[in-house]
Amino acid sequence: WNASFSLIQKETGFIYGIVCVLHDVTEQQRIDRERREFVSNVSHELRTPLTSVRSYIEALSEGIDDAQTEAHFFNVAQKETDRMIRMINDLLNLSRMDSGRVKLNLELVNLNELFNYILNRFDMILDGNDEQKPQKNYTIKREFTAKDLWVELDTDRFIQVIDNIMNNAIKYSPDGGVITCRMLESNNQVILSISDQGLGIPRKDLNHVFDRFFRVDKARSRAQGGTGLGLAISKEVIEMHQGKIWADSIEGKGSTFYISLPYQDYSQGDEWDEF
Ligand code: ADP
Repeated sequence: WNASFSLIQKETGFIYGIVCVLHDVTEQQRIDRERREFVSNVSHELRTPLTSVRSYIEALSEGIDDAQTEAHFFNVAQKETDRMIRMINDLLNLSRMDSGRVKLNLELVNLNELFNYILNRFDMILDGNDEQKPQKNYTIKREFTAKDLWVELDTDRFIQVIDNIMNNAIKYSPDGGVITCRMLESNNQVILSISDQGLGIPRKDLNHVFDRFFRVDKARSRAQGGTGLGLAISKEVIEMHQGKIWADSIEGKGSTFYISLPYQDYSQGDEWDEF
């Protein structure tokens, strides 16, 4: 705490009051510390790919005899440049949300249909031709409530969140894993979950996976093209919808990501009955 005092005096010099103003400096210090850490994180995150790209370009400019190595070096330089662009786009996105410049484009949507549509896209990727096919195989299981759940949300941003969680479920799972997607209704909430059979997340890290740049295994995430910002963005988007996002996991067995969104049951008591 930081306190400042002022005396209230009459012209005669008679003191008839003291005003004490207390400022909560710890909150301000926390914000300042977080800001410093964030800037330092961004610098480190960009320096690593930049220095590696520079060494690959240096090697290429000196000339490489072996065509295969040359192609590999070009490929790494390109991949790392793409990852930096992705990271900067993610950062811009987060900064827009931080400053409240993002307006949600809300519409009432049938969540069963939307969730299914998003998952169908992931099924379709598996049927794609060899070039686009992911290196990993997976099976998506759906366990949805039979009841249609209508929720007000920004479709594009919601798709971005589910894409992100699904991509992680694939990325951090073994080949041929089953991803189970559930949807149910409970106490005016819709709860969606995505469970994988992957490596899981240590208990102590469960809350941190939504922090900016946090990764359980930095090297692994980078090697997979990760930016460490996907879940931080997902959290912002879900919170903008007055929802919640959290994770549960058993190490070595798999992880489950949950999303809850407020839901109004329009099927009970038709509002138009009175007219
Ligand atoms: P990244 O780009 O690193 O995947 P995210 O913000 O999407 O960034 O995720 C943060 C971290 O959370 C990941 O690096 C990973 O350690 C962990 N994580 C996310 N999803 C899963 C999952 N399904 N299984 C295991 N670990 C996960």
